[in-house]
Amino acid sequence: MANRPSASPLQREPEAADGTIVWYAAADGAVVEKNPQWQAFTGQTQTDYMGLGWLDAVHGDDQEFLKASWLEAVRHAKPLSLRYRLRRHDGEYRHVVAQGAPVVVDGKVVRWVGFVVDATDSLQASEALRVSEERFRVLDEIGGATRHLHEADSVMAVTTRLLGQYLGATRCAYADVDSDSDRFTIRSDYAVDGVASSAGVYSLDLFGPKATSNLRRGRHLVVHDVDQELGFEGGAAMFNAIGIKSIICAGLVKDGQLVAMMAVHQAQPRHWTNDEVHLVSEVVDRCWAHIERVRDAAALREQDARKDEFIATLAHELRNPLAPIKYAVAIASREDVSPTRTVRMLGVIDRQVSLMSRLIDDLLDVSRINRGLIELQPEDSQLDAIVARALEATQVLMDARNHHVSVHVPPGIVVHVDPARMVQVIGNLLTNAGKYTPPGGRVELEVLVENDQLTISVRDNGLGIPHSELGRLFQMFSQLPHTRASAQGGLGLGLALVRKLVELHGGTVRAESAGLDQGSTFTVTLPLSATEPSAPNNPVLPAETMDDGALDRTSKSDGSPRVLVVEDNPDGRETLVTLLQGSGYEVSSADNGHDAIAAALAHQPHLVLLDLGLPGLDGYEVAKALRAQGTTSRLAIIALTGWGSARDLERTREAGFDLHLTKPVEPSELLQLVQAALRRLS
Ligand code: ADP
Repeated sequence: MANRPSASPLQREPEAADGTIVWYAAADGAVVEKNPQWQAFTGQTQTDYMGLGWLDAVHGDDQEFLKASWLEAVRHAKPLSLRYRLRRHDGEYRHVVAQGAPVVVDGKVVRWVGFVVDATDSLQASEALRVSEERFRVLDEIGGATRHLHEADSVMAVTTRLLGQYLGATRCAYADVDSDSDRFTIRSDYAVDGVASSAGVYSLDLFGPKATSNLRRGRHLVVHDVDQELGFEGGAAMFNAIGIKSIICAGLVKDGQLVAMMAVHQAQPRHWTNDEVHLVSEVVDRCWAHIERVRDAAALREQDARKDEFIATLAHELRNPLAPIKYAVAIASREDVSPTRTVRMLGVIDRQVSLMSRLIDDLLDVSRINRGLIELQPEDSQLDAIVARALEATQVLMDARNHHVSVHVPPGIVVHVDPARMVQVIGNLLTNAGKYTPPGGRVELEVLVENDQLTISVRDNGLGIPHSELGRLFQMFSQLPHTRASAQGGLGLGLALVRKLVELHGGTVRAESAGLDQGSTFTVTLPLSATEPSAPNNPVLPAETMDDGALDRTSKSDGSPRVLVVEDNPDGRETLVTLLQGSGYEVSSADNGHDAIAAALAHQPHLVLLDLGLPGLDGYEVAKALRAQGTTSRLAIIALTGWGSARDLERTREAGFDLHLTKPVEPSELLQLVQAALRRLS
């Protein structure tokens, strides 16, 4: 369209700047003169562009509308402004803006003049701007909708829904990738109505080897048409089976590991744009970071709760032995105390101090192992001697609980271990079996040698472990609610210690149980670096069994006020009974919840000193039961316990206790409080 008449004011050679072409045309719209700028831009020769020949340089799709618009403007002598694509000399189509106006002399159009400007760059820039604004808007919307969410599954659900809806996808799913096992898990996804969710656990092999290796290297899988682009091996069969024809799967690689993927599925073939792929990639990155934050926060909360629970348990367990120590000291310092009684009280103090030292030793051991400060001193050791030492250390417990212990150790096994630590490992497992099995139970220790491995199993027929809890037993301070009353001063450190010590020996330990009351088996597996035949030792004999004195009642009836002491720690119980008897009370006692109720009915005490953590029924249940019985409903009930948080106090009040005392209470103070409570009754 460039016609430059030679004799007119418009004849001036136009300066073409930044690809601007000035053009001229005759009154009838035909180009009649040469236009070097047009020629330079389009590569058309003068013969090519003369008349309406310039239309040949216009993109085929734009020619028709451009010709019609131009002839229309000419017919009505109206200015025009148009956009179309013009082929440059190098073959590339450029977006141009063309404007033109008629030159009118004496009311007549004498010619046309106008310009064509290459607007490609600015159009592309504004399109890129629009796309990027759109991307930020979507990211912002997802960010706003998920910011307040504190659960990983909700973050996944909201993110995949918003992204899926924005892209108009059939399905959108976020997957956690387990880098150790080649598996990925979709926990929550978005799917349009009528399309099945893809939640589940899958193998990365589904994508085929090439796509999998690309994903691992942080390259996205973009398939516009499954049938055209993926072979059977490459996953076409799998995608067809789930009704998918096109996919974006954006993998997220962190520290060289594929950690997450965001998959967008379409039921029809679809041409995904680069911007869509970028968006999905950006969303998976943000979604993963958010989920990591949420998971870290949850782990911290869990850790914090466990720590709080531990501090409460520690306080409780340290107070528990302190109470009998205080009472024993008070009793032994009385002027009229007999030498036999003094010796018994010293025995109480000795046992309770040992209990506290064991707790503190366990705590220090765990902390030293955690800080890498424990070094094993391995030596070739007779396994049966190690087992015998562990049995010896636990015999008192096994006897007290009347357990039948059986042991099967093949003779002559020599192991290269730290014997003291291995005694600790086996001893801890035996202690647990003894504690968490009701009296009269069976505990079996069995050693097997198989394929260069040594397994030591400790099996019991006790309280068992629910399947869901098996995983957390070996964490520090983990104690299961159903075994709490039987923990006997444990802090939930024993198994953590066992695991660490076994791992230091290059072995593993696992727990199995068919469920509550189904017994448990703990199995230690050690690599057998050295076994040598040696003279068989004397076989290790099962521990002897003994009755557990469950109920100890004193049933004098001399008209003194009657007090019932309920306490499962034998030393705690004895010192309390002695203390109260020494002050003239008629005292009966029980060491568990059921016996406490029986003793209360039989002896009709005026006051009960009631511990809270008890085998069978706990102290709260005992108090409620006593309050509900006509004959015992009005007696004074005092909680005497190691638990002392505000919540514990509230619970005892609710259960009907008159008073909550936290151990240790000064003996004189305790006697005063008992006296005051009895006075209130009369
Ligand atoms: P503790 O015995 O001091 O509580 P452990 O670390 O030895 O601590 O054990 C942790 C928890 O594992 C126990 O509190 C109990 O809930 C459970 N447990 C351990 N051994 C057994 C067992 N043989 N039977 C049932 N539960 C057990």
